[in-house]
Amino acid sequence: MSASSGDDVTVEIGGGLTCPRCSGPAYLSARIPHRMTLSGGMEARGYRTIMLCPNCDRDNPDAAGLLAFFAVHERIDPGTVSQSAALIDEWVRRSSAAAYTEADLDEDIRRWEGDDM
Ligand SMILES: [Zn+2]
Repeated sequence: MSASSGDDVTVEIGGGLTCPRCSGPAYLSARIPHRMTLSGGMEARGYRTIMLCPNCDRDNPDAAGLLAFFAVHERIDPGTVSQSAALIDEWVRRSSAAAYTEADLDEDIRRWEGDDM
């Protein structure tokens, strides 16, 4: 899978985000676009959403830098936004590379095929 420029990652920060794993408050979420070629040669596009949760991502090396930032700053404000942006970017890139598994692919294909009918 390769990310293509022109697809934007949408990041949402704080403000009542709920972690889908533990139902606790999440720091932020990122919607990551992806595309792939299906077996029939058709290109499929979709999004997946990842969340940064201080509880569930405690041992996640991909999130370590960003969690360390939040541990110090608690929130992103104008004084820390540029620092956080680099960490968010790193978290998104690492997570989008690691998060997409064969099972996710099968799930997405099932969903797309369902949508087409
Ligand atoms: Zn959680």
